[in-house]
Amino acid sequence: MIDEFKTLKKFDAGKGRDGFLYSLPALEEEGVGKISRLPASIRIVLESALRNCDGVKVQRKDVETLANWNAKEPANEEIPFVVARIVLQDFTGVPLVVDLAAMRSAVKRLGRDPKIIEPLVPVDLVVDHSVQVDFFGSPRALQLNLEMEFKRNHERYQFLKWGQQAFKTFQLIPPGIGIVHQVNLEYLAKGVLSQKSEISGQKSEIFYPDTLVGTDSHTTMINGLGVVGWGVGGIEAEAGMLGQPVYFLTPEVVGVHMAGRLREGVTATDLVLHITEMLRAQKVVGKFVEFYGEGAASLPVPDRATIGNMSPEYGATMGFFPIDSESVAYLHATGRTEEQCAAFENYFRAQKMFGMPRKGEIDYSVDLELNLGDVQSAVAGPKRPQDRINLPALGETFRSLLIKPVEEGGYGKRDVRLNAKHLVQLNGSAPTDGDMPSTDKGELGAAEERNKLEMIANRPTPDPAKELPADPFRHGQGQIGHGSVLIAAITSCTNTSNPSVMLAAGLLAKKAVERGLRVDPVVKTSLAPGSRVVTDYLNKTGLQKYLDQLGFNLVGYGCTTCIGNSGPLHPNIEKAINNYDLIAASVLSGNRNFEARVHQNIKANFLMSPPLVVAFALAGRVDLDLSKEPIGQGKDGDVYLRDLWPSLIEIRDTMQSALKPEVFRKLYRAFADQNPKWNEIPSSTGEVYQWDEKSDYIHEPLFFKDFSMEVSKIENIVNARPLGIFGDSVTTDHISPAGAIKASSPAGEYLKSRGIDPSDFNSYGSRRGNDLVMTRGTFANVRIKNLMVPGTEGGVTKHFPDGETMSIFDAALKYQKENVPLIILAGHEYGTGSSRDWAAKGTKLLGVKAVIAASYERIHRSNLVGMGVLPLQFVDGVTAESLAIDGSQTFSIKRLSETLQPGQQLTIELKTTDGKTRYFQVRVRIDTPIEIDYYRHGGILPFVLRQLLA
Ligand code: SF4
Repeated sequence: MIDEFKTLKKFDAGKGRDGFLYSLPALEEEGVGKISRLPASIRIVLESALRNCDGVKVQRKDVETLANWNAKEPANEEIPFVVARIVLQDFTGVPLVVDLAAMRSAVKRLGRDPKIIEPLVPVDLVVDHSVQVDFFGSPRALQLNLEMEFKRNHERYQFLKWGQQAFKTFQLIPPGIGIVHQVNLEYLAKGVLSQKSEISGQKSEIFYPDTLVGTDSHTTMINGLGVVGWGVGGIEAEAGMLGQPVYFLTPEVVGVHMAGRLREGVTATDLVLHITEMLRAQKVVGKFVEFYGEGAASLPVPDRATIGNMSPEYGATMGFFPIDSESVAYLHATGRTEEQCAAFENYFRAQKMFGMPRKGEIDYSVDLELNLGDVQSAVAGPKRPQDRINLPALGETFRSLLIKPVEEGGYGKRDVRLNAKHLVQLNGSAPTDGDMPSTDKGELGAAEERNKLEMIANRPTPDPAKELPADPFRHGQGQIGHGSVLIAAITSCTNTSNPSVMLAAGLLAKKAVERGLRVDPVVKTSLAPGSRVVTDYLNKTGLQKYLDQLGFNLVGYGCTTCIGNSGPLHPNIEKAINNYDLIAASVLSGNRNFEARVHQNIKANFLMSPPLVVAFALAGRVDLDLSKEPIGQGKDGDVYLRDLWPSLIEIRDTMQSALKPEVFRKLYRAFADQNPKWNEIPSSTGEVYQWDEKSDYIHEPLFFKDFSMEVSKIENIVNARPLGIFGDSVTTDHISPAGAIKASSPAGEYLKSRGIDPSDFNSYGSRRGNDLVMTRGTFANVRIKNLMVPGTEGGVTKHFPDGETMSIFDAALKYQKENVPLIILAGHEYGTGSSRDWAAKGTKLLGVKAVIAASYERIHRSNLVGMGVLPLQFVDGVTAESLAIDGSQTFSIKRLSETLQPGQQLTIELKTTDGKTRYFQVRVRIDTPIEIDYYRHGGILPFVLRQLLA
C-alpha cells in the first residue's frame, strides 16, 4: 500500500461504513504545505498525486510541488495526474478501442492470455456523435433518424459491440440513450469512488475523488458537480486508460467570486454567455477557473454544469465548482444511492473541503468578481460564442453587421434591397442529401475553431443520389431573406441537461400555442435532448405536446446540431440562399457557432437559451428587438415575448412535479434492452477481435504487428531525409485532416482500389479506425504547404536524391523500401490546434523518426513521444530557413543511443549534396524521465503492453 507521506487515515464513510482516505489535512499537519489555502481543484489533483506517489509514475517532489502551489507564481512543472476513469464519445473513442483490440491480438500472437489487456480504470463510451437531423417536425422523426444513423454507422457499431462484450472495465452506452456529458452528469459520475484493499491485514475500502479525462472538450461539464476533469487527445486518454498519468503544466487558478442572484427572466444560458464573454477578455487559456462565493452557492448543479461545459469557449482548462450541499442534493435528485451520497459528503467533509468557499478563504492566482444580478438576457454570435449581444440589441447588431465590411467582421452587403423577401415553395418529395458526414467530433485545443472551420470547409459534397427512405421536409411555403431563421435547434448537453431552461422552453411553447402562434415551415425545428429524462419530464408536465405543435418534435438523443449534424435543408431553401446570397440565421442552444459549423449555408448563428430558440423560431427572423416588437400575430392580435416568458415560480413549480430520482434509476439501466436496433446489430464475440479484411472502417493497426517483449536499443538516426519542411503554425489538422478525402489523394486512390465510390468515401474523421486510410491521409490536408516544393499546396514532397515530386505517402513508402530514415522540419507552434492522436500516429507510421521544430504545441509534442517519435527543438535562433535547408540534405544524430536525457542538447550533422558537412544544435524535447521510457519502448502503448506482460 502506497503511503509515502503517512497520510492514510480512517474516516466515517456513512451508512455504517468505515473507509480510508489519503488525508490532505494530515499532509498539511506533516508540514508539507499550506494545503487548506489551496483551490479545491488543486487539492483534488494533489490527492491523486499523494495516493499514487510510487516514486516512479508519481514522485515525492510532485506532491511537494503541488502542496506548495504558489498562487501568484505557479512552478513551471508538469504534473502527473492519475485519473479515476475515462469517458469517450464514439467519434474519438473508436480508434482507442481499435488500439486495445490490436494489443489483444499482439498478446495472443505471443501465446499469452489476451485478457491481460483490459483498461485499468473504468472506461465509458457513449455513442452520441453520429445522429443527424435528417427528419424533423414529425412524430416519426426520432425513429427515422435512428434508422439512418444505424445504416450509416453499421460497421463502427458492430465493432463497438464486440468491444462491449470483450472488456470488463469498458461500458458502452448505445445510440439513442443520451449525450456523453449529460449521461456523465446524470449517471456515470459518482462523486467519490472506492477500491477494496487490505490495510494492516484488514479488509478495507479506500475512497478517493471521482476524476476523469474525456476525449471531448466539453468533458468539463462535470466540473459543475465538483468533479475534476477535462478533455484530452486520444493518446493521453489511452495512457490514462492504461493507468498512466496524464501530464499538465501546473496551472494558474482564476477565482471568480460570485455574488447576488440571477434576476427574473434571466436563464443559466444567459449567465454562461456572460461568463464566456467576461473570461475570454481575461485570457484564461490554459488556466483553471474556480467559481465560489454565495452567488455560486445559490446556483443548482445543472446551472453550474452549464457553466463548466463552456470552459473551452472561454478558454479555460476547467470551470470548476467546489463541492457543497447542492452537489449532494443533485446526486440524491438523480437517483444515486444513499450510500453514494453519504460517502460523497463525508469524504469531502473529512478532507475539510465541503462547502462553498467564501471570499478570502482561498488563494487564487487572479481574483475576479461577478455579480449575478448584472447578467442580462442575451444571445451570442453570429460567429463566436464570446460575442454576447443583449437581447434588445440583436436586431440592430444584425443589421449593422449585414452592411459592415467583411474585413471588419461583417457580411459586406451593399445591396439596397436588404429587406427583400423571397417566396420559397416546399413541396413534394425533394431530392435529398443522403449521407452528409459530419467532420470533427468535439476534440479540444486552443485553435480548435480555426481547425474546425477548415474541416467543415472541406466537408464531402453530399450525394443527392442517395435517397432517404421518406421525404424528410415539412411542406408549405414561406418567405425568406437576410436574417431569416432557417434552423431552430434545442440542442447540446450545455443546455439540455438543465431542466429549468428545458421546461422554460416547454412553457413558452404552451403559451405560444394557446395564443395561436405557429412556426413557419421554412424553419427547421428540432429537439435533441441529452437524455431520456428530459422526454420523461416534458411528457409528464404535458409540455412536449406544445413543443410538437410548433415542430420541436424529438429528433434524437445525441449531439445533432451542436456538432454540425443539422442535416440538410430543403433544396429549394438552399437554392434561394445561394441564388440571393442570403445571410440566413440559425438559433440554437449549443456552444459553438462559427461560420459553416451549424450548416454550410447558414452564415449567422446565434447561441441562446432553449426558450429563446422557441421564441426566435416563432418570430422567424433575428433582425428584431424582441423586448419591444411583437413575436408574431396570435388569434387575439400581437403577441410579445413578455406575454410568453414563464416566471421563475412557474418554472420551479413545474420542475418539482417533474424530476424524480426513480425516473433516473429506471432510465439509466439495461441500456441495450431499451434499444432494439442496437440488439439487431450482429456482433462477433470472443476475447480477440476477428479483424475483417473486407472492412474499410476498422483495420488492425500496424503498431503491434511485430511486437516483441524485447526493448530495442535506442538507435542513432543516420543519413535521414526530410519528408517535409513546414513553416509556422502547422496544425494537427494539416498533419492529419478530419474532413473530406480527395479522390485523387493517396487515401482516395486506396479507397477506389477497394471498390469504394468517391461518394461513399465519408471523411477521414469517420475512418480513424482504419490505419491504412489514415496513414495515407497524413500530411494530406489540401492546404498544407511543404517548402520542399515551393508554390504547391497539399501533401506533396520531393524524393531525394532523384528530386522527383510525388505524394508524401508515396515518398515515405519509397524511403521505407530504401531503408532511409525520415525527419520532419517545422517552424513555430508545430502541431497547434486540436489534440489529435492520428497526427502523431500517422507521422510514426510514415516512418518519421524525429521532428525538428522551432517550437511545439504542448500536447502534440507529448503525443509524438507517446508514439515513439523524437521531438527536437532548434536552439540559438537557428531555423530550417537560416540553415538553407531545402530537403536535399541528409541529417544524422549520432550520440542518441548513448545517454538520452530529458532536455539534453544534441548535435545534428547536416550533409549537403556537394559533400560539405555542417553541424547545428537541437534540444531534446523529451521532457520527463517517464517520457524517456516511453520513447525507449517505441511509444506509450508498447511500454504499457510490456509492463502488463511482464
Ligand atoms: S452536445 Fe455538443 S457539447 Fe455536448 S457532447 Fe455533443 S458536441 Fe459536445
